[in-house]
Order: sequence, then C-alpha cells, then structure tokens
Amino acid sequence: MMGVRAYRWLPHEGLRHAIPAALVARDDGRTLCGLEVTVPHEPPPRSPHGCWPTCRCCDVAWRESEGIRVFPWPRAAGESEPATARTRLPSAPTPKATA
Ligand SMILES: [Zn+2]
Repeated sequence: MMGVRAYRWLPHEGLRHAIPAALVARDDGRTLCGLEVTVPHEPPPRSPHGCWPTCRCCDVAWRESEGIRVFPWPRAAGESEPATARTRLPSAPTPKATA
C-alpha cells in the first residue's frame, strides 16, 4: 500500500525519535537510534519551541530504511553536533507486509 510508513515520530527526552509504526500505547520498543522507550498513552507535552528537534540518528536510519537519500543536515544555531553520529544501529524489526 502506498503512503504507509514503517515508522512514526515519538517525542522522547527532548528529541523526536522514530519508532516502529506498529507500536501502540504502552508498548515497549526501541527507537531507531537504540533507545528503549515505552510508548506513552497520552500525547507528550508540546515543546516550548513548537516542534521537537529531530533525533539525527533516527532521521538517518529512517531515510536509509526507506531508501531516501540522506541530505546534509542543516546546521542549527547553538546546537552542538553529537559526537557519536555514527552510533551503530540495532537491528530494526522488519516491517511485515500487510496482508
Ligand atoms: Zn533517536
């Protein structure tokens, strides 16, 4: 099916991380960058900036999983680069084809 994404964004500890779209509230899972998360039942609080900054590792992993070219990350003023941008990713679960 077109338009079905394998992942979705989940704000967690100040960043937007990508999690498998199949996870529902209270599920335990992992973000694409390897953090263990429990999907909150309630929507997370809004960021004071209106939008949570995206986790770079998750963004890159998501793009790679969907075969989207990874563009150079725009530099945000005042934000420091994570030193370990190339953290090894855990083996992400393979999304099952919808029957
Ligand atoms: Zn992440």
